[in-house]
Amino acid sequence: MPRFVQPAPVLPDVYDDDPVLRSWLGRLLGADGLAAAEGRLKAVAAEVMGPLRAAHADAEAHPPVLHRYDGWGGRVDRVEVSPGWERQRVAAAEHAVVALPYLPDARERWGAGTRVVQHALLHLYGPESATFTCPVAMADGAAALLSVSDVDEGVRAAWLPRLVSTDPAVAITSGQWMTESQGGSDVGRATTAALPAADGSWRIQGEKWFCSAIDSAMAVALARPHGAGQGSRTLAPFLIPRYAADSPLAGFTTAPDSPAPGLRLHRLKDKLGTRAVPTAEVGLQDAYALPLGDPGGGGLARMMTLVVVTRLHNAAAAAAGMRRGLAYARAYAGARGAAGGRLASNPLHRRTLAGLAVDAQAAFALAAHAFVLLGRVESDGDHAADNELRLVAPLAKLTTGKLAVASASEYLECFGGAGYVEDTGIPRLLRDAQVLPIWEGTTNVLAVDVLRALSHDPGLGEAFIARLDEATALASTLWIGGAVDGLRAARFVLMDALPAAAADPRAESVVAGARDLALTMGYALACALLVEHAAATGDEATKVAAELWGRSRLTADETAVDAHRSYDVLCG
Ligand SMILES: Cc1cc2nc3c(=O)[nH]c(=O)nc-3n(C[C@H](O)[C@H](O)[C@H](O)COP(=O)(O)OP(=O)(O)OC[C@H]3O[C@@H](n4cnc5c(N)ncnc54)[C@H](O)[C@@H]3O)c2cc1C
Repeated sequence: MPRFVQPAPVLPDVYDDDPVLRSWLGRLLGADGLAAAEGRLKAVAAEVMGPLRAAHADAEAHPPVLHRYDGWGGRVDRVEVSPGWERQRVAAAEHAVVALPYLPDARERWGAGTRVVQHALLHLYGPESATFTCPVAMADGAAALLSVSDVDEGVRAAWLPRLVSTDPAVAITSGQWMTESQGGSDVGRATTAALPAADGSWRIQGEKWFCSAIDSAMAVALARPHGAGQGSRTLAPFLIPRYAADSPLAGFTTAPDSPAPGLRLHRLKDKLGTRAVPTAEVGLQDAYALPLGDPGGGGLARMMTLVVVTRLHNAAAAAAGMRRGLAYARAYAGARGAAGGRLASNPLHRRTLAGLAVDAQAAFALAAHAFVLLGRVESDGDHAADNELRLVAPLAKLTTGKLAVASASEYLECFGGAGYVEDTGIPRLLRDAQVLPIWEGTTNVLAVDVLRALSHDPGLGEAFIARLDEATALASTLWIGGAVDGLRAARFVLMDALPAAAADPRAESVVAGARDLALTMGYALACALLVEHAAATGDEATKVAAELWGRSRLTADETAVDAHRSYDVLCG
């Protein structure tokens, strides 16, 4: 009897095989805008299908190593990264994954839609980038912060062009040092102090507990300026160069580098996932720093410019990972035999995959909407979009983070035992997904942020209900009964809960219910977005997704048979 060997799943092209992505791009960019973007998108997809997938595997197999001393006992704190990680860095620069929204010709071509195109690049590039999307997110956040008008022109001119360069020899990424061991969510407990120096620069003293992409050429760190009061509002962002001024930064990830004076890497974290990303504990002793804006005021608000961007990247990563997981699971279902046929023709397995496809569509809708808003804020200075983003950024991040972990667990199960075996590459989906609800605000912390947004501007809650009502009317016209029922059920809950949250966000009952409220809002928003997209495009798969999402997430209706019957339209 010959030994049976299951062929590894073969993935179709990640762009061509993603009708959800193309449908949204067609609507958000228009036919001409999409045509103008397709060259970039196909180029990144082609690289993902070849060299980047290999680079991803190499980076995962060879995690970073910290060399604290050289052979003579000198302190070097050098982080050795794999060629695969370096290859991902080069690709991120060349494909303008960070740079696109800052490139004048891109902004001229797509206007506010530049962020939409960037989201599509992230969607294609991210899932098999060995989580290079982490430094990408922080570099984008840093670039957005450096673009703020009250940042010193000299600092901007020195650093921003490199953050947004498409030349790999020039491009740098950034870290983001906020978390301290006594408090990650509660940044107000920060003890890192900043002292002004005679030359206009500052010196930083303190300890940072979670510093990802520590091989980056710079970091944005939160510190308390000398003499400032306690709490979070007095904290200010500072730019800390990671390397000494004479370090060969052009090849900064592979060249023997010299850390900036006063900067010590205690150790790299031994993490559950994101293993290719070097995440360090950092000590700062009189480290050189440049203030990003006036250290005397408005620092935390400026830092939020960065945080909003990284939260959106988090949502993009969650949605993209869900889509790629689906692609792998579908490919496997087409090749694997069970119960007398292919898995792809088994009603129960089809129902499982169809449910995952619906979740992936909902996550994509939330991420896409958040990028649309960001684009409108940056390009048009749109106040309404800015207001809405205050609510949508935490909602999109928290909802997609939770969905991504649940989906990743299912994707592993779709492969049976192979999904649990490291060298299939599948277990990584689950390990890497788990960071998504933790980093940049846990689910609870973001839910509290949603309360804060609602109480700051009660009009947000009213606008939210109005959007649900409009979507209900649309769904009714389109005969998407599940969405009608789901949106009505959500409205019934939110009609009282939103004003109560706005009126007293610190009330015990409001705080205790914050996560439920935020998730209901996230699910309802996703439903409304799917309905709006179905109405604008007539897309059948979106219509089906809105139907099943509304029923499964907002009314807990049974959807098994319909999901199985809709497999081809959802997953085809
Ligand atoms: C892989 C990885 C990479 C990271 N990279 C970075 C980085 O580059 N830079 C950086 O600054 N940080 C980074 N972090 C740290 C991350 O941002 C923090 O771990 C996170 O913000 C939570 O902070 P904490 O660990 O102190 O947990 P805590 O804040 O102590 O939270 C513990 C628990 O308390 C809950 N909680 C906290 N506050 C509230 C509240 N107000 N209401 C209700 N519940 C609450 C949380 O939900 C959580 O469940 C990284 C983390 C990971 C896992």
